[in-house]
This record gives sequence, C-alpha cells and structure tokens, in this order.
Amino acid sequence: MDKVHNFSAGPGILPQEVIEGGIEALKNFKNMGLSLVEISHRSKEWEDTMAESEALIRELYNVGNDYAVIFVQGGASLQFTQVPQNLLPVGGKAAYLKTGTWASNATKEAKHWGDVQVVASSEDKNFNYIPKGYEIPSDAAYFHITTNNTIFGTELHHVPDSPVPLVADMSSDIFSRQIELKNYDLIYAGAQKNMGAAGVTLVIVKKDVLGKTGRQIPTMLDYRTHVEKESMYNTPPVFAIYLSYLTLKWIKKIGGVGPMEARNREKASTLYAEIDRNPLFTGTTAIEDRSIMNLCFVAKDLDCENKFDAFAEKHLCVGLKGHRSVGGFRASLYNALPLESVQHLVNVMKEFEKQYA
Ligand SMILES: *Cc1c(COP(=O)(O)O)cnc(C)c1O
Repeated sequence: MDKVHNFSAGPGILPQEVIEGGIEALKNFKNMGLSLVEISHRSKEWEDTMAESEALIRELYNVGNDYAVIFVQGGASLQFTQVPQNLLPVGGKAAYLKTGTWASNATKEAKHWGDVQVVASSEDKNFNYIPKGYEIPSDAAYFHITTNNTIFGTELHHVPDSPVPLVADMSSDIFSRQIELKNYDLIYAGAQKNMGAAGVTLVIVKKDVLGKTGRQIPTMLDYRTHVEKESMYNTPPVFAIYLSYLTLKWIKKIGGVGPMEARNREKASTLYAEIDRNPLFTGTTAIEDRSIMNLCFVAKDLDCENKFDAFAEKHLCVGLKGHRSVGGFRASLYNALPLESVQHLVNVMKEFEKQYA
C-alpha cells in the first residue's frame, strides 16, 4: 500500500516504530510469552515500564522532585473539572483565558467549583487570535491557559506574565516545544495527539499546591491518591501508557524536545509558506498567533474547497478537513509527522493550483 500522509487532528499520527513496538508488546511483552494486556500491573516487568515512563518525562521536560508526574484517565476533558476540584479553594477564584472550544469547556467546568473570571476571550473573531493586554487578578488561585488551540489553530507563543501560578492544557502541543516548567503549577495533556494513544492523560503537578482547597475530594479524583500510589492506585491503562512510553523513547532518541521543536518549526514554516503563496488558499488565524501544530486554512470558494478535498484525498493526504466550527482545512503536524509528509502536501497544493482553473 502506498504511504498515507496522516494530518489528523486527534487521535493523531504516531511513529511507525511505536506502532510496531505496541504490536510486539501485545503479542509477547518483554519476552514473557504473554501479552502486555494479560499480565499483572503489579509485575516487575510492568512496574519497570511505569518507572521508566516517568523518568523519561522528567528527563525530557527537566521535571524536578518538587513536581509529581502522574498518569490518570478520563481524558483532558476530566481535567477540566479535576483541576479546579483540586486547586481552587472553597470560596476562591480562578482566572481563565478563553481561546477556543477546549478553553471554553474548561471554563464551564471550573464554575462548578468556585468563582471563575474569564480575563479575556477571542470569541468575537471565532477564536482566530490570542487575546493580549488583559489583566490577571492577583487574588486568583491560578490562571488557566490552553497553550495550543487545536480546533482554531492558534498557539500561545509567549508565556503570560502572570501574578498567579499558571495551569495549562497542553493536550495538543505537549513535547512539541520547550517549556519552562517552573512557570506552571500544573500541566495536563490527553495523550492522543502528541504523546501516545487515547486512554491516558499526563498530569505534572507541583506537590505543594495539593490538599489546600478545604474540600473533600473523592479518592479517585484526588490527585494525591495518584501521587502517593505512583499512578497505580487502581489498574492503569497499560496499553495506552505503553504507547506513550514508546513515543517518549522515540522523542529522546531524536535528541529530546529541543530538536523536536526545531523539526516542528521547519514543518510549520514550510506549509505556512505555501498557504501564503498559493492564491487558492488563505490562512485563517492571526499571523503572530499561528500554531505550529494545527495549521488552519480555507480555499477561495466552496467549489475550490470541494475539489481540493477530493484532490488531496486522491493523493493520500488524510485528516485534512477542518473542524466544523471553522470549515476549510486543518493540517495537524504533530511530532510524529515527518517533514516529507509536509513536503508532499505542499506539492499536492502546487499541483492543484496548476490543474484548477
Ligand atoms: C483534544 C483536546 C482536548 C480533549 O481531550 P480528550 O482527551 O478527548 O478529553 C482538550 N484540550 C485540548 C487542547 C485538546 O486538543
């Protein structure tokens, strides 16, 4: 079968060697003669993998011992409620930046737990930019941001200068670029875009911010349970974690997050250059806020859009359809997408320009 170029927004592309490693572990995990999914999660073989996964994350993001690294379930969407439940004190206030659908969902869920102040929103222009020049209340427990807006294709290129600790949803740009972890009290990411498969969510949280809300938290929803039990309070989603483990090893092999970021920037600038050059297409987001992960663009009219849709599919570019709230196209250039797929898409766009008349 010819190579399919996968631009899906999520779940997204994984490195081929991760897929192969996953198949092998399903058949015969660590030469045990058993599948990964039929052994005890208390076995040494599995406990070693858990420990190595955590160690890889600590190494890639330079995570100190003042932070806990945990794997939880429920997707990033459960974090929308688990974050305020664990970090927003009873009677307290949290600040949110509303930059897209996921940020809006996070805001909505936080309201169940306390006073929520939306400091700025880009909803007035269908979230096609990142608001600037807003004020963050200094009495907020934290300021929640979505570092990359998967649906609208914008990204925060500068960490906001915040008087209160930051909490960040990094679901679609985790390990795609370097971060300064000390700016954050907590970051979270559903694994299925840049880190692995759906079913596991990574949380990195500063230990000393936990247990201060004054509220009772059910055991499974209390981060402290998973910190104390090293993500093994109950059966973890072993296969999803294993695919993350393999992906983390792959990122390390490439040289870590720095080289990963350089690759990602090259891919994004290659495709944005063609979007800006090609008279049939227009980018939909403010130039200074363009995401390097999700590149959104529209065709010059509906006829052109329909024809490019079919043309791209014929040339084995899949997952390019834009989210229904934006329309047009969205090319997701996650970590595992090779530069050659971006070059292929650029060639397809150039060829389409020649043929479309
Ligand atoms: C995909 C995505 C989510 C939702 O993730 P689930 O794991 O499906 O709940 C949340 N935030 C961002 C930024 C996303 O890209």
